[in-house]
Amino acid sequence: MPAKGYVEIAVEGCKGCNLCVINCPKDCLALNTSDTNSFGLYYAYLKNEDDCIACLNCAVICPDAAITVYKKAG
Ligand code: SF4
Ligand code: SF4
Repeated sequence: MPAKGYVEIAVEGCKGCNLCVINCPKDCLALNTSDTNSFGLYYAYLKNEDDCIACLNCAVICPDAAITVYKKAG
């Protein structure tokens, strides 16, 4: 069984480029288009925690290193 993951996205470090969203194989991420960070930019969030497999794709692709991936124990 694949690992379960959890992702933290630094709201102020995200520029809303969407790269993480389109590179997640499990469709776990989305851009929050109803709010902005202090720079006036949309930011990504974990919309579907249950399906995250901690593959690290999002963290690797993020140009601003705004994503931290955690692997859940068990
Ligand atoms: S770690 Fe993988 S599965 Fe989890 S949100 Fe990032 S890209 Fe998606
Ligand atoms: S790849 Fe990084 S900067 Fe781009 S939307 Fe995702 S978290 Fe934000």
